[in-house]
Amino acid sequence: MKEIILCKYGEISLKGANRSYFEKMLRDILKRRTAPYGNFKIYSMQSTVYIEPLDEDADIDSAYRIAKNTFGISAINRAIETEKNMEAILNTVRTQFMPYIEDAKTFKVEAKRSDKKFPLTSPEISAEVGAVILEESHGRKRVDVHNPDVAVRVEIRDYAAYICAGQERAIGGMPVGSNGKGLLLLSGGIDSPVAGFMIAKRGVKLDAMHFESFPYTSERAKEKVLALAEKLTEFTGEIHVHIISVTEIQEVLRDTCEEDYFTLLLRRFMMRLSERTAKSFGCDALITGESLGQVASQTMQALGVTNSVVECPVFRPLIGMDKEEIIRISREIDTFETSILPYEDCCTVFTPRHPRTRPELFKVEREEAKVDVQALEDAAFATLETVVIGRK
Ligand code: ATP
Ligand code: MG
Repeated sequence: MKEIILCKYGEISLKGANRSYFEKMLRDILKRRTAPYGNFKIYSMQSTVYIEPLDEDADIDSAYRIAKNTFGISAINRAIETEKNMEAILNTVRTQFMPYIEDAKTFKVEAKRSDKKFPLTSPEISAEVGAVILEESHGRKRVDVHNPDVAVRVEIRDYAAYICAGQERAIGGMPVGSNGKGLLLLSGGIDSPVAGFMIAKRGVKLDAMHFESFPYTSERAKEKVLALAEKLTEFTGEIHVHIISVTEIQEVLRDTCEEDYFTLLLRRFMMRLSERTAKSFGCDALITGESLGQVASQTMQALGVTNSVVECPVFRPLIGMDKEEIIRISREIDTFETSILPYEDCCTVFTPRHPRTRPELFKVEREEAKVDVQALEDAAFATLETVVIGRK
């Protein structure tokens, strides 16, 4: 039996003249991502990418999982490939396909012919396949065309026919890299991994930026962030995590500036350092997990104060989302359990007792003028180290 994975594109199919460029990109990504699981041939035809195992050792289960989590694919299924004639199709249904629909009590058959020269029409194919399934199920299954447990699909393509049970939703979005590269500010919390996921889904390749404050933050806090990046690689492929120490900045701010402004001042440093890192590594936007009003530093005025130190675009995909919605996504992408591990973040180290929720820019700048911004920024930037995480 020859099994094959069929992936349907999502938005790529709307891309008109550029479509083949996106298709190739998606194929290249799938090639890289399935490579650890064996030999697969990957090709596209008729709005579908085919992932075909080339030998017995190829791990089709893992290839299926990774393809389902590859941005650019909107629906996916496993199909049995068979010769393109009715006898072979019916024989395959009879001898190989029944286990695929074991659990279904009701079914319908949908046939699709992209080869219009095939001698039977789609309804005729459906009727014949349906009859064989009924016969083989010995009265345990019946047809329900409106609300079946499973829709059996028979597709007659140019070179072969495919039989499959249902179709699963895949992750959707655009192939990673088709929309440039961005720098995700990744803390150890719940929000930033979700923000990264959402922007990556739009086809953006991610680098990550993490600020540590050793010894105020622990080695384990950093490991947690790397673990979160690793979780994201399931969807994004390899991530370069850039780590900068802001310990000295925090200490100088603590010793020099008014406490109420600590967080804002630190965040302005983080934004400057992020922009500088972004430029050094070819990223054209910053991405944060900020959500309007969630904490004092995420009011409209506070965001204005932190945003004003950078020129590059800052994407905040969670800006209008409730915490519950964010948590739902973080569970779906499996970052939640890691995010809630109780290690401190540098933002929580010197948290002011009364942070400013409606800061005025001139007052922030007045506090900031008490320190040598450029020297502190340069010294912090010199601590940058890069860790490469995960699979291609
Ligand atoms: P998160 O759950 O992502 O930690 P949060 O609600 O705790 O977010 P803040 O701590 O105010 O919010 O941080 C807001 C955003 O700033 C984060 O989503 C992240 O993008 C960025 N950020 C915060 N701390 C760090 C850090 N130590 N390193 C890198 N980015 C950070
Ligand atoms: Mg945080």
